[in-house]
Amino acid sequence: MRIHSAFVCILFVAGSLFGQTSVTLSVDATDAPRKIIHTEETISVRPGPITLSYPEWIPGEHEPNGPVVDVAGLHIAADGKDLPWRRDLVDMFAIHTTVPSGTKEISVRFDFLLPARTSGFSAGASSSASLLVLSWNQVLLYPSTPGPAHITVHPSLKLPAGWNYGTALTTENEDGGVIHFAPVTLNTLVDSPVQASEYFRRIDLTPASGPPHHLDLASDEEATLDITPEQIRDYKHLVTEALALFGAHHYDHYDFLFTLSDEVAHFGLEHHQSSDDRVDERTLIDKNLFRAHAALLSHEFVHSWNGKFRRPAGLNVADFTTPMKDDLLWVYEGLTEYYGNVLAARSGLRSEQDYRDNLALLAARLDNEPGRTWRPLQDCADEAQLLYEARGDWHSYRRGVDFYDEGDLIWLDADATIRNLSKGTKSLDNFCKKFHGAPSTPPETRPYTFDDVVAGLNEVVHYDWRKFLTERLESLSPHAPLGGIEHGGWTLVYTDTRSDYQRALEEAYGNNDLSYSLGILVGRTGTIADVLVTSPAASAGLAPGMQLIAVNGMKYTEERLEAAITAAKNNSGAVQILALNGDAYKTYSIEYHGGLRFPHLERDASKADVLINIISPVVKGQ
Ligand SMILES: [Zn+2]
Repeated sequence: MRIHSAFVCILFVAGSLFGQTSVTLSVDATDAPRKIIHTEETISVRPGPITLSYPEWIPGEHEPNGPVVDVAGLHIAADGKDLPWRRDLVDMFAIHTTVPSGTKEISVRFDFLLPARTSGFSAGASSSASLLVLSWNQVLLYPSTPGPAHITVHPSLKLPAGWNYGTALTTENEDGGVIHFAPVTLNTLVDSPVQASEYFRRIDLTPASGPPHHLDLASDEEATLDITPEQIRDYKHLVTEALALFGAHHYDHYDFLFTLSDEVAHFGLEHHQSSDDRVDERTLIDKNLFRAHAALLSHEFVHSWNGKFRRPAGLNVADFTTPMKDDLLWVYEGLTEYYGNVLAARSGLRSEQDYRDNLALLAARLDNEPGRTWRPLQDCADEAQLLYEARGDWHSYRRGVDFYDEGDLIWLDADATIRNLSKGTKSLDNFCKKFHGAPSTPPETRPYTFDDVVAGLNEVVHYDWRKFLTERLESLSPHAPLGGIEHGGWTLVYTDTRSDYQRALEEAYGNNDLSYSLGILVGRTGTIADVLVTSPAASAGLAPGMQLIAVNGMKYTEERLEAAITAAKNNSGAVQILALNGDAYKTYSIEYHGGLRFPHLERDASKADVLINIISPVVKGQ
């Protein structure tokens, strides 16, 4: 919630209109380049036993991954004297202490040790020599009662000299290098990260009518902030297309906090009035990287409606301690992934061809995933709190957080079904307008259940949506739900030439995807990242982690491996791979004669091209 200055004065006079507890939070980030943040809080309390909690379940991350191990130097004090404290023996995120009689406030002081590792979402690397993304949940403890919605925080932040910043918070004043933000509830504070950098640009994306929207760019170097006028135009289109899709908004203003750095973890995290979007440093100036990340901002933006405003009941917990239930993530993330990709195409950030090629890649992956015969998609969502941290090896057998990509397929299927049933007069856009749209509101959350989703779809077109969704969620079919592609007028096919989009992704990520021929995904150094569990490579004994050394007696290169696969198509000899497994060398004979196979969508002329209608701009003349 953004609080306007005039309103803030009333709040100070009236005391805490938000609730009973007041916290003053002073964060000193001047040591962020050396990976330490200093934090100090003053918390209003009552005498007696008190439990202070470190945020564990971070909204949007769907797992208990608050980085409590990076808290160091904790001191809790009253009237200048340290209080003894003890950690709970079951809840590692809870600290118990006792407030002396007559004491009205305590101080909490600690350092947060910024991690260097680049995995782990917001708990991963968040700083470099030149920038920082501050997630407030990492630098505070909060009293376990009365709950974050009833705690008013007065935050301030000191940054290294010369750094600029972007955030959805309102700045009240800057004094001696310290930024004082307007007071907010603890929920809003955790929902409002600050992005700061020596190299910073703020670009206005505000549409002709609509609330303020900004693209805040932070990078490790000035040169990589070099956004083109066409990129700015397309990000403006993203705003207008999203507003047209939903027909209303649930924020007072919106900031894309777009961080360009090779030093931080790469992911996107949604918030009501901003998104924390972190990508490779050269994303704006490298065509392959830009294509690879084309749908990141659109995905996180959609979450302002689908995830923050409308939220599955099991994810709508009252604090950062209560476990979340992830069973409806195929709506929360799946529908967001679908519209993130659609809006990227509608806005021009991703070409129509790239949209189809991306769809072909994800459809092929899911259609060749043996794990789907033991684990239904519903279980991918149910176990998501652990699967987010699952390794990538043997992915096709384990399955992972597939509700993103398979959600994309299911919601495409739903969209194509609505369009076909209504003879083109309605679409899934109508569901979004009704479910996520008018009237516009400030940030707020309205929970929903599975039944609400079914009812919402039935309001658009009457159909057995419960059966439609349940069948897809519970299916143990070896094949992915490709009905949306097929009803959309396209067919998933394989040819011996990779799409230009796949080539761009492979160059951006440094891998070679031979999943649908030999059945291996190879990293840049020749290490096998994964093996499809039912593939010829798996049958020959190859496994993730092995290092490719030689192909048919010659030193391994990507080109030699692909040439060997092509040659084996016309002869009966096996492809001979010398691989290193730990310290052991072994030759593996792969009996495979199907040639190179890469996925594409091929037009089915017997049906209308519904897909092109879905991804064409809704806002005309821009
Ligand atoms: Zn998401």
